[in-house]
Amino acid sequence: MKKYVYFFGNGKADGRADMKALLGGKGANLAEMTNIRLPVPAGFTISTEVCTYYYENKRTYPRTLANDVAIALKKVEKSMGAKFGDPKNPLLVSVRSGARASMPGMMDTVLNLGLNDVVAEGLVKKTNNRRFVYDSYRRFVQMYGDVVLGLKPVHKDEIDPFEVIIEEKKKAKGIHLDTELDADDLKELVDQFKQAIKDQTGHDFPQNPMKQLWGAVGAVFGSWNNERAIAYRKLYDIPDWWGTAVNVQSMVFGNMGEDSGTGVAFTRDAATGENLFYGEYLMNAQGEDVVAGIRTPLPIAQLKQENAKIYAQLDRIRKALEKHYRDMMDIEFTIQQGKLYMLQCRVGKRTAFAAIKIAVDMVQQRLISDKEALNRIEPEALNQLLRPVFDLKEKEGAVKSGRLLAKGLNAGPGAATGRIVFNAPDAEEWKKRGELVILTRIETSPEDIKGMDAAEGILTARGGMTSHAALVARQMGKVCVAGCSALEMDYGKRTMTVKGKVLKEGDWISLDGTTGEVIEGKVPTKPSEVLQVLIGKTLHPKHAPVYQQYAKIMSWADKYRRLNIRTNADQPDQASNAVAFGAEGIGLCRTEHMFFGEGKIGPMREMILADTVEARTAALAKLLPLQRADFEGIFVAMNGRPVTIRTIDPPLHEFLPHEEPAQRELAQQMGISYEKVRQRVEGLHEFNPMLGFRGCRLGIIFPEITEMQSRAIFEAAANVQAQGIKVEPEVMIPLVGHVKELEHQEKIVRRVASEVMQEKNVKFKYLVGTMIEIPRGAITADEIARVAEFFSFGTNDLTQTTLGVSRDDSARFLIPYVEKEIYPKDPFEVLDQTGVGELMKIAIEKGRAARPGLKVGICGEHGGEPSSVEFCHRINQNYVSCSPFRVPIARLAAARAALADTKRGKSKQG
Ligand code: ADP
Ligand code: MG
Ligand code: MG
Repeated sequence: MKKYVYFFGNGKADGRADMKALLGGKGANLAEMTNIRLPVPAGFTISTEVCTYYYENKRTYPRTLANDVAIALKKVEKSMGAKFGDPKNPLLVSVRSGARASMPGMMDTVLNLGLNDVVAEGLVKKTNNRRFVYDSYRRFVQMYGDVVLGLKPVHKDEIDPFEVIIEEKKKAKGIHLDTELDADDLKELVDQFKQAIKDQTGHDFPQNPMKQLWGAVGAVFGSWNNERAIAYRKLYDIPDWWGTAVNVQSMVFGNMGEDSGTGVAFTRDAATGENLFYGEYLMNAQGEDVVAGIRTPLPIAQLKQENAKIYAQLDRIRKALEKHYRDMMDIEFTIQQGKLYMLQCRVGKRTAFAAIKIAVDMVQQRLISDKEALNRIEPEALNQLLRPVFDLKEKEGAVKSGRLLAKGLNAGPGAATGRIVFNAPDAEEWKKRGELVILTRIETSPEDIKGMDAAEGILTARGGMTSHAALVARQMGKVCVAGCSALEMDYGKRTMTVKGKVLKEGDWISLDGTTGEVIEGKVPTKPSEVLQVLIGKTLHPKHAPVYQQYAKIMSWADKYRRLNIRTNADQPDQASNAVAFGAEGIGLCRTEHMFFGEGKIGPMREMILADTVEARTAALAKLLPLQRADFEGIFVAMNGRPVTIRTIDPPLHEFLPHEEPAQRELAQQMGISYEKVRQRVEGLHEFNPMLGFRGCRLGIIFPEITEMQSRAIFEAAANVQAQGIKVEPEVMIPLVGHVKELEHQEKIVRRVASEVMQEKNVKFKYLVGTMIEIPRGAITADEIARVAEFFSFGTNDLTQTTLGVSRDDSARFLIPYVEKEIYPKDPFEVLDQTGVGELMKIAIEKGRAARPGLKVGICGEHGGEPSSVEFCHRINQNYVSCSPFRVPIARLAAARAALADTKRGKSKQG
């Protein structure tokens, strides 16, 4: 018989930490903490398989489940010495959701289950604490009403009916805090809540504990498919079929008085990564109070003063957990009358700053290996290290001039400037219009995630470092200032008042997520620490701790990766930036970008508009020295590293003036009539330029262009080599679909190369290769490889031509396509491995069969996207090439791909 229920308690559990797929993260870790003898209240987990069954069988359960649950419940009763539903000695439980991946606040939990009118009175006798009992009971009725009976409001503007009743009661009594309600008030609340349930559902609140239990279990399974949970799964690529587990656990009570409490903590600082115990707690409170922002919690350091014994125990557990899990953990705990209990632990979410610091520190502490460290840092996360920070002088100036509005908690580091919006849908909408926005709210909740994703930064008036806003911002890598209590928000008027100043929707503000400062207006930013060291060279590595960690990670990445990393750069400054980021060559230098430079566009236009070979050659002669100088600059910057230069590629009309004044000016320069210019420009008009007169087609019809470009490349190579700098030019012919196209161009390139070598009496090495960006090129790669010494996949065009989709016209349908899951991701961002990737595989296989040792790379946008880099590694490319700022990301992605190989047991290959 299938096992559906897993018990934990008394130092022994059926499950383990590595059973997350079956038990969910929460259940697996409750089991693990039990096994390592941490104080965990006994309970059991109903597996995710039951959730799958539930949805596959019209919301029913496996036949054996009820019996399994009854047996497990007996065990829990025995271990706690109490009985579910027994008024004399009642066992109360929580019913908690828990999926394989953590989905903070997405699904529902019910506490204090098992209470009814009789049990409540029994518990009063037993505990002699009437206030505690009715506080627990009113929480239970409220949660049960919200979660199980569906009274929780669906829309933003609706208010929880129970909250309305509480507010009325507090107002009537003239009090502010929940803790000021006495036992009689709470008992009255219970009755009023029950009445509200009856009014709204037509049914009585269930008094039978078993009925309550199954109601809650069904609600947890049901919550897997609530709107919020579905949206969250979409955002984080969590598959629907995973399902959630349900945990039923004996209650421990943080609301039994001032010697009780509850809290959440991180074993290290999740924002900075510092090795400090970081957390928040509230005395005389239950579970959700800490995160809900009802009362502002106290920092964990204060617990040390308030209760040194509990703090010491917690600190021991913190160390034990890190040693056991070898990672930074996020924990939930409750203190019941001076006794500590652990209620949850999981690997803690962290910022990229923290991820890197913690990984590096843990390697130094010998908790993890450098390989594990690499696997723990998402390549994309490195972006956060390269992001701008506020210019300190500018910020000080802003503060001095009185623009500092307030200070909150530094929940998500970095600098953000944008315009105020007050709700998530607005944030999404404004962002779509191209605005930068700061999502400004009293507090955020799970339904805000899309808006948070759209915002540059998030600002909240309430909630601590572990509030929803802080947690999610860190995970998304957003700048966040939380709990900024000086702000008074008025959603209705769409204003925010602080220090008597009124800010309106659309006003600019700036957030420093590293310090928690909120500043009025825009504050200019400056490059991050890593950039100051590598690019600006304005900071010494010694004084740059963030840079030092970055450098460590990069050195480990380089140790394991097999792919070479190149960059796409057209100018010497871009090239040297890329080298600073670790580029090992240029994978794509677009020569046409050079023609747009100062003094170059004129001769270029003359060249295009020439109507005789002589006139064209004369114009090209003006361009030759300009291009040569560009190439010299690049060769010098690359200092011996290989440089792939692509001959002219775009449709010619892109270079031409399309407005009359510019056409007149050009006519004058060329000494021809305006009318002639106008006609020529018109004559070059194309209906579908992307598939028109471009790429190698230009060099075939106008061989003088290829001739000039080859000469510029090789003369530059000879000149730079004469300065004692090694050069390695690789000439790349674009848009080749037929081997004869390549042959035609190759002849010109090789002839010019030998002419230059003779003229200058030097020798240099060079390669001639092609871009593979047309399906015909990929399919006939064996023929092409007889001529080409290297392939470089131009995956932007290869995606356009394989999918038959014009990238520039695709937004209107590709975004809905991705929403409808026709393509899993935008294929121009993330390589379409099954379609375009298959062509790449064919090209490599056929190409290398014809020419063993054929060098293969990629130079499309995908060369800097981690999953595409991984693919390039798997199909045995030699290198990927990406924009300079993505080079670190590609280095890390390549290393992780190589490490995944060793895991799969594949041997290293060339
Ligand atoms: P979430 O996944 O939203 O954090 P949880 O299941 O962890 O939901 O529960 C919500 C809150 O209730 C947490 O603060 C948790 O510590 C508390 N809680 C859950 N189970 C118990 C229990 N058995 N005893 C005391 N507090 C509990
Ligand atoms: Mg929790
Ligand atoms: Mg192309």
